[in-house]
Amino acid sequence: MAGKFMKVSCKDCGAEVVIFSRATSRIACSVCGSTLTSPSGGKAQLVGCRPLEAIE
Ligand SMILES: [Zn+2]
Repeated sequence: MAGKFMKVSCKDCGAEVVIFSRATSRIACSVCGSTLTSPSGGKAQLVGCRPLEAIE
């Protein structure tokens, strides 16, 4: 199953960031540096952001 890119919004600063849904490393907000996702079981778990839309 292929991963997808998705657009998320940082909970802390509201920045919109495009992430890979199956990212295997932690992704930090490029604006404020807070943690957006942490890897969990082969997919990125959203920890500090809200999903906005999937990008095919
Ligand atoms: Zn941020």
